[in-house]
Amino acid sequence: MTNSTAKNDHQVLVLGAGYAGLLAALSLAPHARVTLVDPSEHFTERVRQHELAAGRPAITHPLRSFLGTTGVEHIAARATAIDLHARVVTTDNGRSLPYDRLVYALGSRTADTADTGGERAFTAETADALRKRLRDRPGRLAIVGGGLTGIEMAAELAEAYPDWDVRLLSREVGAGLSAKGRAHVRTTLTALGVSLAEGERVTSADDVDADAVLWSASMVPNTELAARSGLALHPSNGRVEVDAFLRSASHPEVYVAGDAAAASAPGAGPLRMACATALPTGTQAAAALRASLDGTEPRPFRFGYQLQCVSLGRRNGLVQTVHSDDTPRELILRGRVAAFTKEQIVRYTVRLIRQAAR
Ligand SMILES: Cc1cc2nc3c(=O)[nH]c(=O)nc-3n(C[C@H](O)[C@H](O)[C@H](O)COP(=O)(O)OP(=O)(O)OC[C@H]3O[C@@H](n4cnc5c(N)ncnc54)[C@H](O)[C@@H]3O)c2cc1C
Repeated sequence: MTNSTAKNDHQVLVLGAGYAGLLAALSLAPHARVTLVDPSEHFTERVRQHELAAGRPAITHPLRSFLGTTGVEHIAARATAIDLHARVVTTDNGRSLPYDRLVYALGSRTADTADTGGERAFTAETADALRKRLRDRPGRLAIVGGGLTGIEMAAELAEAYPDWDVRLLSREVGAGLSAKGRAHVRTTLTALGVSLAEGERVTSADDVDADAVLWSASMVPNTELAARSGLALHPSNGRVEVDAFLRSASHPEVYVAGDAAAASAPGAGPLRMACATALPTGTQAAAALRASLDGTEPRPFRFGYQLQCVSLGRRNGLVQTVHSDDTPRELILRGRVAAFTKEQIVRYTVRLIRQAAR
C-alpha cells in the first residue's frame, strides 16, 4: 500500500466550521477523508458581528464557496454526542459518524446574561435581532463589558445610530491596552457620544436601566459536548485541556482548536479566545493530526502575539502593539490608518481560509 493510499483511508471528522474548524478541514482535505459538521450552510465572520448590528448587510459566506472541489463533505447538523470509545459522533439529524481522528472546534459564545429581560437583552450572537430593535425606535442602549468586543460594539452602534443614547458599563474600559491606547479609545467613544460608566460591576442584564441591553461581558467556550462525552476540561476556564500538539490531554486522537481549546504556547502563555488564535491553532491541529496519520513526529505549537486591532466605528480604530505574551507595548496606531489596518486584517482571515482551500 502506498503512503498516500493509506492517508486517504483515514476518516477525519471536524466539528465546527468557524475560523479554526474550517481552516483545519481545508488543510487536511488533501491528506484524508474529511467530513465537516456544522448546522449552518454558511461560514460566519464572527469578528464582524458588531458590524451586522450596525447594518452591514451580510457577514457570511456560503460554505460551498470554500469547500468547492476539495472533497470535504459538509453535514449540516449539530453534533450532539461523542462516543470516545467507539469513535463515533452522533448528530441531531440522526447520523452516526465514525472517525479515526476528531477535530473539536465548536468555538464559544457570550456568557449568559441571566436574561429574564426577554426582548430587552441582546448579545453578539443575536446581533440581527439587535439591529431590528435599534432601527425600530430610538431609546437608551446600555452595553455591558469594556473589553475589546464591548468597545467595538459601543463605537460602531453609536456611530450607526446617533439617535440612541449609548452607555458603556464596565469595571474599566480597555483594561489590557496601554495608557495611550486607552486614552484614544476613551476620547473616540466620548466623541461618538458614548457615555462611559466605569467602576460598574453588573451581574445581570435585568439590573440595567435601559431600553436595550447588549451583554458583552465575557465569553464561555462551547465545551458542554466535550464535558458530557468525557474529554478532560481545564479546571478554571472550562476549555478542553490539550498538550503541546493540541491533542486532548485525555483522548489524544481528538485535536482541539480555536476558542474551545485551553491552548498555551511558550512565551505567549495561555491563549485568549480570539480569531487571532483560532487560525493558528486550526493550522497547528491540522499539522499535528496529519503527522499522526503519516507516523511522523509533530512539531509543538508555537505562537506569539503581535497586535491587538480594535475598530472604533468605520473611520477610526486602534492598533495596539503587544509583546509576545499579549501585554501592551507603547507603540500604537490610531485613526483612519488603524481602521484601514484592522479592515485589511479581517479580510486577510477569509483570504487565508480561501488559500487553504486552494
Ligand atoms: C463582535 C465580536 C468581535 C470580535 N472581534 C475580534 C477581533 O477583532 N479579533 C479577534 O482575534 N477575535 C475577535 N473576536 C473573537 C472571535 O470571533 C472568536 O474568538 C473566533 O470566532 C473563534 O473562532 P472558532 O473557530 O474557535 O469558533 P467560532 O468562530 O465560534 O465557530 C464555531 C463554529 O462551531 C459551530 N458549532 C457550535 N456548536 C456546534 C455543534 N454542536 N455541532 C456542530 N457545530 C457547532 C458554530 O456554528 C460555528 O460555526 C470577536 C468576537 C465578537 C463576538
